[in-house]
Amino acid sequence: MSVDAPVLIAGGGPVGLATALELAHHGVPCLVVEPRPEVSWLRPRAKTTSARTMELFRRWGLAAVIRDRAPLPVAWSDEAVFATGLLGREITRFQGCFGLDLTGDDRVAEPGQQVAQPLVEQVLRDAVAASPHAALLTEWRVTGLREDGTGVTADLTGPDGTAKQTRAEYVVGADGSRSATRAAIGAKYEGADDARPNFNIVFRAPGLADRVPHGPAVHYWVLSPDQPGLVGRLDLADTWWCIAQGVAQEDGEADPLRIVRNLVGADVDAEILATDPWRARMLLADRYASDRVFLAGDAAHLNPPWGGHGFNTGVGDAVNIGWKLAAVLNGWAGPRLLRSYEAERRPVAARTIEEAARNMATLAPELTDPRLAGTGAEFEAARPGVAAAVHRSKDGEFHSLDLVLGYSYAGSPVVSDGAGERMPHRWLGPNESRYDRLGREFTLVGDLSTALAADFVKAAAGAGVPLDTFDDPGDRLMLVRPDQHVAWAGDAGDAVDARSVLARTTGRRL
Ligand SMILES: Cc1cc2nc3c(=O)[nH]c(=O)nc-3n(C[C@H](O)[C@H](O)[C@H](O)COP(=O)(O)OP(=O)(O)OC[C@H]3O[C@@H](n4cnc5c(N)ncnc54)[C@H](O)[C@@H]3O)c2cc1C
Repeated sequence: MSVDAPVLIAGGGPVGLATALELAHHGVPCLVVEPRPEVSWLRPRAKTTSARTMELFRRWGLAAVIRDRAPLPVAWSDEAVFATGLLGREITRFQGCFGLDLTGDDRVAEPGQQVAQPLVEQVLRDAVAASPHAALLTEWRVTGLREDGTGVTADLTGPDGTAKQTRAEYVVGADGSRSATRAAIGAKYEGADDARPNFNIVFRAPGLADRVPHGPAVHYWVLSPDQPGLVGRLDLADTWWCIAQGVAQEDGEADPLRIVRNLVGADVDAEILATDPWRARMLLADRYASDRVFLAGDAAHLNPPWGGHGFNTGVGDAVNIGWKLAAVLNGWAGPRLLRSYEAERRPVAARTIEEAARNMATLAPELTDPRLAGTGAEFEAARPGVAAAVHRSKDGEFHSLDLVLGYSYAGSPVVSDGAGERMPHRWLGPNESRYDRLGREFTLVGDLSTALAADFVKAAAGAGVPLDTFDDPGDRLMLVRPDQHVAWAGDAGDAVDARSVLARTTGRRL
């Protein structure tokens, strides 16, 4: 059977679509197979798109599109308020949450963005539809995979049970927590579930925003014995989301309006638009890949959502496996590059799970103090202690740039000693990011007048490795990968064999 598309992607959630766009960015055709005909508009799970994910979206020209379509402008708020109710008394607040305050900051090419996951998915779907390389097949699912020495044959099942087969050289399994792909390669999740249930509600409440005394905030955490949880806006009109912590599905479904009213702290009129029960899980696949099948996103790892890292980590996976598959398929990288995917991405997921579990250790029920609901004097007596506990336990949830921007691929088999970090960012001019000067494949950054720079250019040309250059004399010489991570860095006087560096970073014998 001949290959239909070089890469088949099982699952068209945010991570599968991001994988398709990364492959398309490098000119590699791919097919995404996804059962849902439409994005799930009333299941807005992720709201936090990190600064790093926005930087990666910028590479595809999509950061500005997402900001234009996001109902909450990034300048609208970077705060999280803790109060006794949405309309209640304020206990404390955080500023500079989720990298939303980083506009124009030299550390990043993009600040974070609050935007509901379905809108991000729709922007990614639109970009796939517009791409000459990527295609999305909806209402079909991947139901079986058979891998051999030259490729993978996949069984697909359609909406009416129709079956067909497709053949690809590689498969990316981005098919979520119940991944059929994970089962097909014999990988297993390892880890634990959190026992506490949570219940999400999307509701419409005209006029509610005008009554909120706390000003704009991306999260309003409610520390109330009646119903602990958090509330936020989906748009600047009347649509809201909330998470009721400790509420079991049957209790939530029995009376969602009561939950909304308890979180608001008043008998408001609200129309319940959707409910979504869930439990947090801390699970990591014991392996990420076979020879030709790679797991990405929730199929490979699940973390509690506190801190907003799940899909953001998955987009990091998508870019990592996407450029590597493209490099191999385009003929300038070797199989060792593909094996580095698990070595680089699994530790990032392990660290993310650990940090998100730490965020989950203290939620609204643990922070609630009955005196907060008492008289003014009782509230004031309790407030300083509760506020201190909030800052002690929740700061890392709202301020996590160390994780979001700081993860490194140091120690990877395709990264030279001392390298692996994300290339340091700075602005070159108004809205002119240093990252905008990088090519789509490898880029040599630094003083290009040196003999060592000339060696790299010559070695890359000789080996057929695509190499752009960016003359930036103020910095060390750096070989920067398509994902903006530094594969090698050194000084002009270092004794370096450029050809060996390229062999290592492309996973290929040269
Ligand atoms: C309450 C909550 C809040 C969250 N908030 C955030 C946040 O703020 N920031 C953040 O980064 N993350 C957040 N997350 C996590 C985020 O929602 C997930 O990490 C994200 O959806 C993972 O994307 P994915 O594409 O890997 O998987 P999914 O979104 O699960 O997509 C998998 C896709 O595969 C499809 N599929 C399933 N089986 C098959 C098959 N056999 N063949 C083909 N396709 C298949 C499914 O239809 C689905 O579209 C939150 C999660 C929850 C529960």
